[in-house]
Amino acid sequence: MDVTAEKLNLLGMRQHALESFFAEKGERSFRARQVLQWIHQRRITDFDLMTDLPKSLRETLELVAKVEIPITIAENKSADGTIKWLFESGAGQAVETVFIPEPGRGTLCISSQVGCALDCAFCATGAQGFNRNLTAAEIIGQVWHANEVLPPRANGEPAVTNIVFMGMGEPLANYRSVLPVLDLLLSDFAYGLSRRRVTISTSGLVPNIERLGDECNVSLAVSLHAPNDELRDRLVPINKVHPIEELLDCCWRYAAKHSNRFITFEYVMLGGVNDSLAHADELYGLLQDRPAKVNLIPFNSFAGNEFARSDRARIARFQDRLRQKGLVTTTRKTRGEDIDAACGQLAGKVSDRVRVRLSEKTTRIAMA
Ligand code: SAH
Ligand code: SF4
Repeated sequence: MDVTAEKLNLLGMRQHALESFFAEKGERSFRARQVLQWIHQRRITDFDLMTDLPKSLRETLELVAKVEIPITIAENKSADGTIKWLFESGAGQAVETVFIPEPGRGTLCISSQVGCALDCAFCATGAQGFNRNLTAAEIIGQVWHANEVLPPRANGEPAVTNIVFMGMGEPLANYRSVLPVLDLLLSDFAYGLSRRRVTISTSGLVPNIERLGDECNVSLAVSLHAPNDELRDRLVPINKVHPIEELLDCCWRYAAKHSNRFITFEYVMLGGVNDSLAHADELYGLLQDRPAKVNLIPFNSFAGNEFARSDRARIARFQDRLRQKGLVTTTRKTRGEDIDAACGQLAGKVSDRVRVRLSEKTTRIAMA
């Protein structure tokens, strides 16, 4: 056996990958389920402590494998209880994860990429540029860490009850790593979350929304932000590749595959840009009689951007207009602003940016 070879990190491996791994070692498939429970439910990373594995198997694992958790660089706590962690992602880079406690649930907002290539005009992560995709281990490691350091809930369950892919990066541009993570989140041998409690937020990568619909039916949130192509082209540049009509058609197909479960449309409220009653009416026109709800996000500012948050009255007016027409509409409560943990403020540390043109980005995304 070549003990100098890089050890395999089991942290990001889903059940069937672990089963193949054990099969190669001549082991029965249930070893995969045992190891998943040790790692993700008991949060044991030392093979020697996995006492229901035979001693000889533990020794083999020690030689060829590891369970490596991302290194935490910083933890910040907001006055409202929101917690933000900064995780090391190599070469001086770092990504951020945010825990949002609410009565009855604990939501973890996780990152999927170091930076983001999609360059939405109002997003701090986009302004940073793109460095690389996170591995499945680096993504699920954020959940592992939160459950490890946060006290369990009153019923003894882990602190994290809901996951949203709304941290740094575009999850569907890192499909290869995100899919095994979704499997782990839903697996009864790992996190055991229901599909309703796991939400992928996407700026609209149509081909991968389609794939996701076929391969893993979790909740979907779509960053719409504008009710027409002219405005959306400016705010969310991927719209030039997948315009609104194509995106919405794909959304309705996604919903239809899953008994018409509602899709959430996120709409950032930018003062004087997309927040008039005419915009609300146009938005209603796109979503009426569809399995859609709208989540308005008050814009969170960051250094060097050109936008302002719509004022409270204007947000309320926009929301009322949609509600009066019968569209379920909520406004997201801004959390963790004092520690730069609110939506769109996550910047982590991104250097060595890979600057890519939109056409190259689409190729990159299609390959992911
Ligand atoms: N890339 C994915 C998920 C990460 S962003 C996506 O775009 O959907 C999570 C949400 O925060 C998205 O709806 C995004 O558009 C929104 N957002 C980005 N920047 C923001 C800002 N400055 N203020 C408020 N919301 C923002
Ligand atoms: Fe990327 Fe989402 Fe930010 Fe757009 S809003 S730049 S897709 S992280």
